[in-house]
Amino acid sequence: MRRVVLATHNEHKVDELTSILADVVAELDLEIVSMAAFPQIGEVPETEVTFEGNARLKAEAVAVVTGLPALADDSGLSVEVLGGSPGVFSARWSGLHGGEVLPRGEKDRRNLQLLLDQLADVPDEHRAAAFRCAAVSALPDGRSAAVEGRVDGVLLQAPVGEGGFGYDPIFVPEGHSRTMAELSQDEKNAISHRGRAFRALAPHLRDLLG
Ligand code: IMP
Repeated sequence: MRRVVLATHNEHKVDELTSILADVVAELDLEIVSMAAFPQIGEVPETEVTFEGNARLKAEAVAVVTGLPALADDSGLSVEVLGGSPGVFSARWSGLHGGEVLPRGEKDRRNLQLLLDQLADVPDEHRAAAFRCAAVSALPDGRSAAVEGRVDGVLLQAPVGEGGFGYDPIFVPEGHSRTMAELSQDEKNAISHRGRAFRALAPHLRDLLG
């Protein structure tokens, strides 16, 4: 079994990705692991201004430090009427709170509320948005592959649904009548930006690791 390190400390993301990449994981006998086993790697600062740039920073740093193939993603919400923002600033749209460490749910709630306030007078026909995700695979020898996935949709005026995280409760994917926060994890994986990005990465993984 060959280990591939996902640039995250979140074990839930490891499970999600192992399920999205089930075919290639079985075919190449891979085990996707988190950075928990590599405490020497701290949080890699996301200093780039594109999703691909940030995903590449994380994947390349993890591949070099671990000496193993690495995977990383970076994602966010792009709102058309805001010229693509919050974009790479999605996780910190409501600010850094003076360095105060807020629980993820509270940070998500403040980011979502700020976005709703900013769009308060924007009518439904101008509330188009997309979740975007860049996924990168990097090898210690410097080879890499990058892809992007997106899901288009519209933003509601108020949150609906208890599932998911981040901006899910106000995002209705195109062709759907429920928000991302009302979909099951499998339904979300089938259409999400992350699901699409990592499924697009699978053939590149076969080339890099096969
Ligand atoms: P990350 O790159 O996966 O850490 O995502 C950055 C930020 O984008 C998150 O903190 C969320 O605010 C937002 N985001 C990314 N993916 C999703 C999603 O699937 N649903 C809702 N919000 C998301």
